Amino acid sequence: MNQPTRHTPTVDAQLIERPQPGLLSIVVPCYNEESIIEATHARICSIAPQLDMNVEVLYIDDGSHDSTLKKLKNLASEDSRIAVIEFSRNFGQQAAMSAGLEMAQGDAVVIIDADLQDPPEVIIEMVAKWRTGVDVAYGRRKSRDGESTFKLITASLFYRFFARMMPYPVPVDTGDFKLCDRAVVNAVCALPEKRRYLRNLIPWAGFTHAPVDYDRDARTAGETKYSASRLFSLAADAVLLSSDKPIRYIWYLAALFASVGICGLITEATFSTKENLSLSTLLALLGFISAAQTAAIAIVGEYVVRCYREAQARPAFVIRKKLVAGNKAGTMLRDEDNTNNKRS
Ligand code: UDP
Ligand code: MG
Repeated sequence: MNQPTRHTPTVDAQLIERPQPGLLSIVVPCYNEESIIEATHARICSIAPQLDMNVEVLYIDDGSHDSTLKKLKNLASEDSRIAVIEFSRNFGQQAAMSAGLEMAQGDAVVIIDADLQDPPEVIIEMVAKWRTGVDVAYGRRKSRDGESTFKLITASLFYRFFARMMPYPVPVDTGDFKLCDRAVVNAVCALPEKRRYLRNLIPWAGFTHAPVDYDRDARTAGETKYSASRLFSLAADAVLLSSDKPIRYIWYLAALFASVGICGLITEATFSTKENLSLSTLLALLGFISAAQTAAIAIVGEYVVRCYREAQARPAFVIRKKLVAGNKAGTMLRDEDNTNNKRS
């Protein structure tokens, strides 16, 4: 389906004014991407002339331990469209993308991974969609090269589970690769919360969304930064930062146990059985009920921890240094220190 989806079903392109040529910001979170970052920049540069927009590229170095930052600075010294934001340590991809959104000056902003799994050529179609009046043109994965069957199945199940848990529409088979209009970026950046999961927040903001289908490539260099435990904690954030449903499910669990208790009483009264339950049956019941209660407490604890983090209000990232493209046409370059660490 290539029609705009969500709150405003159709868009009259005549009513939407997009700046001509306008500035497109491309936000690229980078963590230990020394083996590919130069190739990534070359690919982005190769499509820039076809965009009919001025372009700035914001690379956020998320505390890399390798030569990624050095390579980015070299690229920036040769290309004034580049801005480099250097974090003081690794704060995570969500923080890096949030920093990019905050620093971006563009009329539209694209978020893309640094590893070329999301082909930069797709941005041309995203810009074309944006020009027709769509506010968020999101990449939808038709296929995913280089992923194991296990990862494909778990990812597909997770997308669908996650979409059902959200109190507002969230597209499936979609990652962070998307173009957002300035109005969407402003809405998301204005949110006060520190701990962010952008795949939630951008759909939360509303506006008109439309998919751009593409084939996701395999990583050709470097390796994924997501271990199983990191993926698990990301999945927990994905659900718990935006959905109250896990708490509702605890009520269902309580109702289930109450029903079991009532059934037991009715059986006792009706058949007045004198037999005792075997020890193993009792143990099994006890184990099941204890596990369910512990899980319920843990779920509440997960929410409490997230409340505590927000109450602490620590920034989601700390910037060591910024090397920014100086103006809207991206013709100047200047160094800035870490004066603007207002979020992450
Ligand atoms: N990334 C980041 N900080 C991190 C982990 C990842 O900025 O702590 C960047 C990474 O360099 C890449 C993007 O986020 O540009 C996606 O990471 P990765 O390719 O490892 O994720 P996958 O494609 O395996 O889901
Ligand atoms: Mg990747």
